[in-house]
Amino acid sequence: MTTTNRQWLINGRPLGRPLQDDDFKLVETPTPALGEGEVLVRVNYLGFDPAQKGWMENLGGYVAPTEIGEVMRGSGVGQVVESRSEAFRKGDHVQGMLRWQEYAVLPGHELLKVEAPDLLTAHLGVLGTTGMTAYFGLNKIGKPFPGDTVVITGAAGATGSVVGQNAKIAGCRVIGVAGGEKKVRWLTETCGFDAAIDYKSENVRQRLKELAPGGIDVLWDNVGGKLLNDLLSQIAMHARVVICGGISRYEQGTLPAGPENYFNLIFKRAHMEGFIVLDYTSEYPLARARIIDWIRSGKLNFQEDVQQGLENAPRTLMRLFSGDNFGKQLLKVA
Ligand code: NAP
Repeated sequence: MTTTNRQWLINGRPLGRPLQDDDFKLVETPTPALGEGEVLVRVNYLGFDPAQKGWMENLGGYVAPTEIGEVMRGSGVGQVVESRSEAFRKGDHVQGMLRWQEYAVLPGHELLKVEAPDLLTAHLGVLGTTGMTAYFGLNKIGKPFPGDTVVITGAAGATGSVVGQNAKIAGCRVIGVAGGEKKVRWLTETCGFDAAIDYKSENVRQRLKELAPGGIDVLWDNVGGKLLNDLLSQIAMHARVVICGGISRYEQGTLPAGPENYFNLIFKRAHMEGFIVLDYTSEYPLARARIIDWIRSGKLNFQEDVQQGLENAPRTLMRLFSGDNFGKQLLKVA
């Protein structure tokens, strides 16, 4: 079968600057014929992650380097159109690194069947890498105990909102830090956070002193920079500081200088640790089953921000860095 495929190629390296339109190039190519074991997938939705910019910069070395001219990497869910793999049949819903294109041809072993087709898009967010990041980062590194005070930056985002709700399920007191009144209200009214601070209009350090006079037991950081520094000054004895991401650096040139307040780790005998979710891949099925239970029993809310049309993929990625996304950033392709 030959079909014309629209694809976005990487066309620039956004190192030390924000993403721009000409970092990407839209092309049309025919889909290749299927080899033995391969599957042709119609891409339905793409999921967007801040890490995609880091991949274009070839920063960190935890995934294979990207090349100019390759189809932009990105996760997706779709439906099998044709299969030469015994594991998949026409019509199956699948997920994987489908990339920014209308049709993906992949070896069957690089695809997973979608476990809950009624929650199709959730497999890109709360049941995908985002949910896994929240679950493993919190439970393996944050190690929450009932009664702990957990503070989260980037709290209304796809990852942060799951961290907070998982911490509530674990019996913690949860305070979120997010940008804007709408996000802050959603955290307390819908996600059950005990409090939320709008870092764009409030003095975070001062508010935290009022809200958590005993200090922060688990600090989950998605943002880095000044916010991390301010919060490090408020950690409690034996705090666990989970470094998940540092999105405030993504638009800047170099990596930021270390936070001045890191010395508080010594005074408070605290622990600060980074992680990459991919190290827990073998345990994803258990976490996914648990999160499906939480969703079905109403214990976990999630928000999706769905943009439309493959031609809008670059602009959709940019929304993560302006904070325009409200919930998991997705794009409907077909
Ligand atoms: P997200 O939180 O849904 O979206 C990004 C959010 O970051 C925006 O909505 C915005 O929220 C906030 N933001 C953007 N620029 C900011 C700035 N300069 N200062 C403060 N906040 C800013 O995205 P996500 O996919 O869930 O990712 C969240 C974090 O997790 C990222 O840092 C990502 O790199 C990290 N991550 C890490 C792993 C891992 O394995 N370690 C895996 C997945 C994701 P506001 O409107 O509230 O500012």
